[in-house]
Amino acid sequence: MSCRWHIRCVDCNETHEFVDATRMLDVMFSLCDHAAAIAALAPLLAEQPDELWIQVGYQNGSAKAAWFLQHLGHRLCPIDEYGDLATDEDRKPQRDAATLAAMEARRVTKEIKQ
Ligand SMILES: [Zn+2]
Repeated sequence: MSCRWHIRCVDCNETHEFVDATRMLDVMFSLCDHAAAIAALAPLLAEQPDELWIQVGYQNGSAKAAWFLQHLGHRLCPIDEYGDLATDEDRKPQRDAATLAAMEARRVTKEIKQ
């Protein structure tokens, strides 16, 4: 099913709306998983020098770090345009430990070669 996704703070019943986030559920889960890191950017973005360019988001929309800071430590969850919250069953299957270990080994090898 194709639908647009946003992020809901379940504790406050407030929604961070995104533009054209169709089929962006995986992105929304990632944003929720890393909410604290995004929130940590808020002070920097508030006084962002012109030459510094930081964006957390996707092609058409960006995450507002101040919103994530406001809801730091709260329960965040992707919510679709019809008002249904995503569940863990909606997540892509997690990679198994062997695959993750192989990916990490490739990453480290690449770092050492540089
Ligand atoms: Zn909240």
